[in-house]
Amino acid sequence: MRIVLAVLLMSCSVLSLADVQGVRLWHAPDSSRLVFDLNQEAEHKIFPLSSPNRLVIDIDNSKLLDSLNDLDLSVGPIKKVRWGMRDHKDLRIVLDLREAVEAKSFPLPPNQQYSHRLVVDLLPKNDSFKPLEITKPVLDAKETQSTTRDIIIAIDAGHGGEDPGAIGHGGIYEKKVVLAIAKKLEDLLKREKGFKPYLVRTGDYYIGLRDRTKKARKANADLFISIHADAFNSHRASGSSVFALSQSGATSEAARWLADKENSSDLIGGVGGVSLDDKEDLLAGVLLDLSMTASLSVSLDLGQMVLNSMGGVSKLHKHKVEQAGFAVLKSPDIPSLLIETGFLSNPGEARKLKTSSYQGQMASAIYKGIKRYFMQSPPPGTYLASIRNKSDRLKEYVIAPGDTLSVIAQRHATSMANLKQLNGLKTSIIRVGQVIKVPAS
Ligand SMILES: [Zn+2]
Repeated sequence: MRIVLAVLLMSCSVLSLADVQGVRLWHAPDSSRLVFDLNQEAEHKIFPLSSPNRLVIDIDNSKLLDSLNDLDLSVGPIKKVRWGMRDHKDLRIVLDLREAVEAKSFPLPPNQQYSHRLVVDLLPKNDSFKPLEITKPVLDAKETQSTTRDIIIAIDAGHGGEDPGAIGHGGIYEKKVVLAIAKKLEDLLKREKGFKPYLVRTGDYYIGLRDRTKKARKANADLFISIHADAFNSHRASGSSVFALSQSGATSEAARWLADKENSSDLIGGVGGVSLDDKEDLLAGVLLDLSMTASLSVSLDLGQMVLNSMGGVSKLHKHKVEQAGFAVLKSPDIPSLLIETGFLSNPGEARKLKTSSYQGQMASAIYKGIKRYFMQSPPPGTYLASIRNKSDRLKEYVIAPGDTLSVIAQRHATSMANLKQLNGLKTSIIRVGQVIKVPAS
């Protein structure tokens, strides 16, 4: 009797239909991602059809509970979505496409946030693939003679799309807060001569952790900064922190906890199926020995300046740069920092982080720390390095009656802008007796 029951139960589970409960569509600049929510695992396959271009998604033993009519199809490769049942038990979804795509699909197991998911990624076909556009610094007429380059800062707003990051008091999402801070930091750096920001994530979509560092490398970044605002298992944890990579272990319990949580981002956001590349780890391991030491020491020095600067805006969680094994910091050749701008699990900090003015203060503190470091130690060949070389050969000049900044500039074969920069002057106003620096020759 017991055996019969077991067999019955088994056949029930085989026959039971999976419910497709809903779907989300995320658009990234170079791809689109469809995520189907299922109440249980289901077999599936996808295949493309041409003239006209379509993608067919077959989900076995399943039915659709929701309509797919609410998807935003105004951008991206999908023109229209149709669906129907086959043999009364299989769900077929047909995507009518604007162009041929490269499609990949994989299932994702449940986690604390979602049940079973089926992910379908639509990427541009190889032949029509447009590489990520990195706008090279545009030189204006005056600068064409010079060969100096800008310092490129890759700003990575953590999480995005399927992965909201921490969800704080009042339902605020980490992915939103950190994108806002990242964009404000981008604005500040755009306005600073000698710097060029590169925003890794520009909207609400997920990027795999490895892809974030890859994008930074493609952009020739001098520095990679990942911005976060996490939650801790205690409401009391508060303050900002700056992290650099540690190969050997986390410097504190919180550091280890946060690193584990960040690294699991890929499971929530879904690079699933595409396993983290072991070869890359091995390569990274070898390269780490060679160049990690150098970039790590830069990361620590720079991180400390950023942390000190942030101390003017918020409480600091720790007064030293902490170290932990964050996957997103594993670029062997680019100094990399992960910045926790506060804890969304702390009601007070969540309230502040939600406001545009506090986000602005945070961005400005990070910006000042970055600037201070690179003014002191500009990479060779950069505009800041050229300024510094010039400032090495300076002499003092005492302003005499009748002097104007433009006359002094002419007399010393330099520009007014340069004099202002050398002396940190905001305006051209000078007074008699004031001592300023001018080029020595
Ligand atoms: Zn985070």
